[in-house]
Amino acid sequence: MNRRLLLAMGAVALLGGCADSGKAAWRAAPVTSGSPGASPSATAQPSPSPSPSPWTVPTPARPTPGVCPTVPGLVQRPGGPQHYLPCSGTNIALTIDDGPDPGWTPKILAVLARYHIPATFCMIGRQAAAHPNLVAAVAGAGHHIANHTFTHPLEIARLTPPQVREEVERASEAIATASGGRRPSLFRSPGGAWSPTVLAACADAGMRPLDWSVDPRDWSTPGTQHIVDVILTKTRPGSIILEHDGNGNRQQTVDALSIALPRLIDAGYHFVQP
Ligand SMILES: [Zn+2]
Repeated sequence: MNRRLLLAMGAVALLGGCADSGKAAWRAAPVTSGSPGASPSATAQPSPSPSPSPWTVPTPARPTPGVCPTVPGLVQRPGGPQHYLPCSGTNIALTIDDGPDPGWTPKILAVLARYHIPATFCMIGRQAAAHPNLVAAVAGAGHHIANHTFTHPLEIARLTPPQVREEVERASEAIATASGGRRPSLFRSPGGAWSPTVLAACADAGMRPLDWSVDPRDWSTPGTQHIVDVILTKTRPGSIILEHDGNGNRQQTVDALSIALPRLIDAGYHFVQP
């Protein structure tokens, strides 16, 4: 077990004792870089004061069932991509993009399993084809798998209809092959780039276009604190949260989800699939 994982687990354990008011700071046991074989008791000294908490954990807004505020600028249009869940109860959704990845998908799966959270993995087809065992693991754990194109072309809105169709069809094929025949019913465009051609290809393939409404831009590794802050301060009933398990080092995402997900559950949110 590596040190980062230990830190994340420590964070989760410590969160259970956090006061649930205001911007509660939690204190993590400092991780030292002493020699691996040294027993803490062998060198134990009274600690003068704990290290400053590395992160603060905002208290999420208490959800009001059936009251689902929207984000300015993110308008839900008929036939357009879905930014929100249908407004019902305190439902929210977590979506995980750009995998599967052998380094990060299992770690994300472990966090989701710890809190019994169903998520939607928007998979890149060529990643699914390269790691069919991970596709099967995600499906086997009860998560949805959405089509996120075959090669993740960020310029998809400028591709021709045959090019878009090929991206969509190859990804669905790869995911179905790896998951024992499950064809995706949801499509997420790379970078949230939508065009009439992309929407038409999505509809022709029998899929619904899926977007998001809470985006901490974890792909840009903005820091665990930033990811936690955005998730916990922006989430409202109906929110669709965007995170990533591929295309880079996702340790911040793993750590942030370990902190934020139990807080959302404690606040009364209920995770569903779009
Ligand atoms: Zn993506």
